[in-house]
Formats: sequence, C-alpha cells, structure tokens
Amino acid sequence: MRSHLLNDTTADRYRRSVTEGIERVAAKLATTNRPFTGVTVDALAPRIEQIDLDRPLHDTTAVLDELEEVYLRDAIYFHHPRYLAHLNCPVVIPAVLGEAVLSAVNSSLDTWDQSAGGTLIERKLIDWTNKRLGLGPVADGVFTSGGSQSNLQALLLAREEAKPGRAGGEPGDKLATLRVFASEVSHFSVRKSAELLGLSADSVVSIPVDHDKRLQTVALAHELERCEPDGFVPMAVVATAGTTDFGSIDPLPEIAELCARFGAWMHVDAAYGCGLLTSLKNRDRLAGIERADSVTVDYHKSFFQPVSSSAVLVRDASTLRHATYHAEYLNPRRMVQERIPNQVDKSLQTTRRFDALKLWMTLRVMGADGIGELFDEVCDLAVEGWKLLAADPRYDVVVVPSLSTLVFRYIPAAVTDPAEIDRANLYARKALFASGDAVVAGTEVGGRHYLKFTLLNPETTAEDIAAVLDLIAGHAEQYLGESLDRAS
Ligand SMILES: *Cc1c(COP(=O)(O)O)cnc(C)c1O
Repeated sequence: MRSHLLNDTTADRYRRSVTEGIERVAAKLATTNRPFTGVTVDALAPRIEQIDLDRPLHDTTAVLDELEEVYLRDAIYFHHPRYLAHLNCPVVIPAVLGEAVLSAVNSSLDTWDQSAGGTLIERKLIDWTNKRLGLGPVADGVFTSGGSQSNLQALLLAREEAKPGRAGGEPGDKLATLRVFASEVSHFSVRKSAELLGLSADSVVSIPVDHDKRLQTVALAHELERCEPDGFVPMAVVATAGTTDFGSIDPLPEIAELCARFGAWMHVDAAYGCGLLTSLKNRDRLAGIERADSVTVDYHKSFFQPVSSSAVLVRDASTLRHATYHAEYLNPRRMVQERIPNQVDKSLQTTRRFDALKLWMTLRVMGADGIGELFDEVCDLAVEGWKLLAADPRYDVVVVPSLSTLVFRYIPAAVTDPAEIDRANLYARKALFASGDAVVAGTEVGGRHYLKFTLLNPETTAEDIAAVLDLIAGHAEQYLGESLDRAS
C-alpha cells in the first residue's frame, strides 16, 4: 500500500495516475453537448448505493471507469454555455493547475511552519485585493472557505467592536441590543451569521429595496435614527455589491455616510460583484467600497476560480484579533513577538487549504486585466439578454442588470391567473432541467415565481439566450396546454 503514498519513489505512479484522470476530464469536456444529462435521483442513487466501499478495485483505470458511471457522465457542467443557473463560473486553466499543485504539496495555511512561502503568497494576495479595494494602509484579511464564512467572520469582528461599553451588565443583555441592517435581498448568510453569533432573533433589520433592488438609504437612515431612542446599538450595516438574485449593487457612498454618522460597522458583501475589481470598464460601479470596514470577496464566483476561493478583508488589521486564540501546540503567543506569521491567528479555520495559489497562478499567467475582460464580457452579454427579454412579448423582465443576472417570467397573453403563470414557470424550469438542454435558476419577486439566468460564462452567446428562452416558452406552453386539457 505504500506505493500509493505520494513521495520521492512514486513520482511515476503520481504522474500516470493524475494524467489518466486529467485525460478523462478532458475527454468529457470535449464531448459534453449539454450541461446536464437530466438524470434523476432515483436513477443515480442505486448506482452509487450498490458500490461496496469495503471492496476496493485496486486499479485506477477501473475506478475511473466506475467514476464515469457514478459521477462524470451525469455531473452538472458549468463550462457549458447553456448552464445559466447559479453563481458558478467556468474555471480558468491556470487556477486548475494551481489546484493540482496545492493539493499535491498539501500545505496547510494555519501556520508558517506548515506552509512557509504559502503564507507569504496568501498575504501578498490579500494586500493586492486590499489595494484594489482601496481599504488603506493598515488593511488586512484572510482567505476563507466562501462568502458565507467571510460574512460570518466580518460580523463577528463587527459584534466585538460594537459590544456596548464592554463593562457592567450581563454580556447576554448587551448582545440583545445589537442590530444589523441589510437589504431585504441580502444574502441569507447574514441572518444565519447573526444567529450563530448569538444575536437576538430580530437582530437583522430588513431594509426595503428600490425598483432596481438596491437598498433604500432613506429607509436605512430612518432605522438608524430610531436605534438610540429605542435602546438599540447599530452594530453593522451590510451593503451588498451584487445581490445573489439580481446582481444589484447597493448605494455604497450613501451607506458609508450613514455608517460614519451612526457609528456602525460597514460591511460590503461583494461575493458576486468583486469581479469588477479587475474590470477596466466597470470598476467605478464599486465606488464607495473603499470606505468599508470589511469586505467579502468570492474569487470562486467572478474571478473564474475553482471552489473554494474566497476572502474577508478588513480596513483595520487589529480588528482581526477578535478571531485570535493562542494554542501552545500551534501558535503560542511568543511567536507573535518573534514575528512569525501564523495565519491561524486571523482565521476561523485551523487546518486550511492553500486556495490562494489558484488566484496567484491566474494573476501570474493571465493578469488581472484578463479576469476583468472575461467578467466584462458576461456583463455585456447580460445587457444584450435584457434587451432580448424586454423586446419579447412572452416575457416580463425585472431590473436592468448591474452585473450579469437576468430575472424574468414567462407571461402568456391568454392566461391571467398569476398562480397559473407561477406554475407554468416552475414547470418550465423543472422540465428544462430534466431535459438537460439548459439549466436555469428561479427566485421570487413580489411573491411571484420568476426565472433567473446568472451569466458567468463568456462562451455563452445571445443566440444561446434566445434559444433557451424558446425552450422555456415551449415547456411553459406545454404545461398550460395540458392544464387546459385537465380542466376540460
Ligand atoms: C454566493 C453569495 C454568498 C455566499 O457565498 P458562498 O461562497 O456560497 O458561501 C454571500 N453573499 C452573496 C451576495 C453571494 O452571492
């Protein structure tokens, strides 16, 4: 069994084995003509169920054959131009190369003595990101597993900074007075974080959005004004730079003003919109982000990086101390004096992947402008798609895209019952998924069911969009036709 360990004597096996795997994936990419096969849970589950994990095959080729059956054949392929559903991007090759290197070397980024150069590379990428954000001279941050964890950590820091007085009274009472403000279309991880952080059930105040799905600052100002008289402490405002559902960007400069006036921590959730940091054309859409106290970026969304790759950035490095614990075995306090850089001092995680390497390889091979170009392309495509939808009488489309999301609904002229239209749209999404021809997402707008394209693939064309709209209309019409038959 020792021949399976990756070391100096197994270089050949390593090369052969990984190459064989790469060949399978490459062949798959070359022959995939749909984003999905439409396989059902009932069809796939038994294939996986019947495999006896206690009876290994002892043969890589045989295992890859089996993997074809249980995974590769029916996976959802984000690189396909008709995958239009969630915030998943096709990945760039330099990042995949980074992934191969980082898992083979297997550095762990918690301490210097488990990573050496890896720690410095991660730190340099944090500095690079902070420079692009404009967070100032004492900014810092750390890579995380994703936007949800970045938001959690940012709100942890905000909570610690806001704990009123910190003296006298029960800490529990104090937590109960903390309030977090976020728009009604902010990411659900904000609420989840508040709960995990022990804030009260009604701690997250939902602020209404305007017609363009941007947080209404007048409503926010009103809520912030009410805080003190009502005995609450404004802990944080979460501005979203690229909402998950609409790609809308909250008015960051106005929110920054309000945060400054009311002493609230400004967190910008740019999990989606962060790609604009590399855009030569659209960077100004993030204006105001430089005033944030903390920022979430998901490189695995708009930087074309493989999952996971994310970071939380902070204006003031010293606030990261709220995540610091010293363990004698790992990162004893004396190491701080010895100036040994242990990233675990800043992180919620301990053992941690060297995900930063993927971004490093990407920047070194393609450069930031290269990423920006790709993201600009999908933002342009969204505008084209919006025009198609706006001109199409079969569809109702909401908000002109700020990033690369389109939200729309099939509205047949002959049907007036909105619940029936909901069902037709739901059916169309499901039927499309089952066909595997395209994958689209859905969401709710004003209590009604809408469909959603999240465009992150520069290979997707306006023709793809038009074709998928025809497919959706076809499925919806079929549903309505059958529905009529059922009624008569
Ligand atoms: C995707 C997303 C998140 C969550 O990020 P994960 O990487 O999926 O954990 C948070 N906020 C916004 C706005 C997002 O779009």
